[in-house]
Amino acid sequence: MSYCKRKTYKIKPKTSYKVLRNCANCGGKTEYVNTDCFRVNANGNRIDVWLIYQCEKCKHPCNLTVYERVNPKILKEQYPGFLGNDKELALQYGTNKSFFQKNKAEISMDGMEYEILEEETEETETLEENSEIIHIQNPYELKLRTDKVLAEIFQISRRKINQLVEQELILVQGKYLERVTEVISKKRK
Ligand SMILES: [Zn+2]
Repeated sequence: MSYCKRKTYKIKPKTSYKVLRNCANCGGKTEYVNTDCFRVNANGNRIDVWLIYQCEKCKHPCNLTVYERVNPKILKEQYPGFLGNDKELALQYGTNKSFFQKNKAEISMDGMEYEILEEETEETETLEENSEIIHIQNPYELKLRTDKVLAEIFQISRRKINQLVEQELILVQGKYLERVTEVISKKRK
């Protein structure tokens, strides 16, 4: 048994999911985008919070429910973020699938921007000598081509990546990233 390095990368969205829904103005299904604005409505000691999306073409708004008639106490930490239209908080909701499920909103991941974060590197046992193991975590399940992401990680062209895959110097399954994709990169002699 020999040892090799295992590097972990994580895909993090920089933009929100879009919502597909009918727009009365545009007359048909359009894409709604996150405005990064919240709407807060206080009614006695109950609070409603929405995240506002809008039709990309005509700006027709669509409010997605974040909280409905809740006691302000449970919003404690997030409350200033809702009032101040905190971008990070809007992105948190805009990339939270269960939030869209609760709103029965159909999402689209087309054209989402993302960044690749390098996580820790560790030593691991391997059966493949002279190789490096790469784990790509895609917790938001963005639909991304594996060769495109590998080209960014290795900083070489997609064509070169595909050549290395053909030569079996890079071992990877699937055209698109899974939730976790394992890649074995063999050292070229
Ligand atoms: Zn519209």
